[in-house]
Amino acid sequence: MNIIDLTNVIETDMTVYPSDPEVKVEEVLIHSKDHCHVDKLTMGTHTGTHIDVPFHFNNNGKTITDYGVESFIGRGALIDVSYKKNNEVIFIDDLEPFGEAILKSDFAVIKTGYDEYFNSEKYISHPYLSKEAAVYLKSMGIKLVGIDTFSLDSTYNNDNFDAHDIFLSNDILIVENLANLDKLDINKNYIFHFVPLKIKNGDGSPVRAYAAEV
Ligand SMILES: [Zn+2]
Repeated sequence: MNIIDLTNVIETDMTVYPSDPEVKVEEVLIHSKDHCHVDKLTMGTHTGTHIDVPFHFNNNGKTITDYGVESFIGRGALIDVSYKKNNEVIFIDDLEPFGEAILKSDFAVIKTGYDEYFNSEKYISHPYLSKEAAVYLKSMGIKLVGIDTFSLDSTYNNDNFDAHDIFLSNDILIVENLANLDKLDINKNYIFHFVPLKIKNGDGSPVRAYAAEV
């Protein structure tokens, strides 16, 4: 089976979304003193490659434990908008060429190529979805939208969260900070796996994201 890992590495002082908790991976038990090695992780639920569920934005929204594991696995349409530059908007026109693939898919996976800048200053200036483009994806019956940036909405000018509002209020999941989408072949079909930790009433969770060619 051809499997492509789409996950950023979790490590101490990695980049996090502005105002999110810092990440620490600390040794608690070590081989030279203890019988084994155990690390302690300190991080927010939206660390690195992660999933957002409706409770993230909606007080009455569903949480991680309201979903079966099958909700996080599905056929995905890869949408290549890697010609977009700093802070540029992704419009309906950019998505429409992929309309046929989107209609046949459970998930829409948007490739900007900005994972190249993860852990650098430029990462905050990523392209983002227009409100109309988010409404378009919703109208296509998509169950999850993934992207290789901090957010589906602008992080540089974070004055609105239109895409988050539209998706999370319609039970459409979001995966952010994907990596390695350039390793996928636009002409091939993939099942995407974005399975979170089973956190009771969780609003989000890091995932080990990968694509399996079918
Ligand atoms: Zn998030």
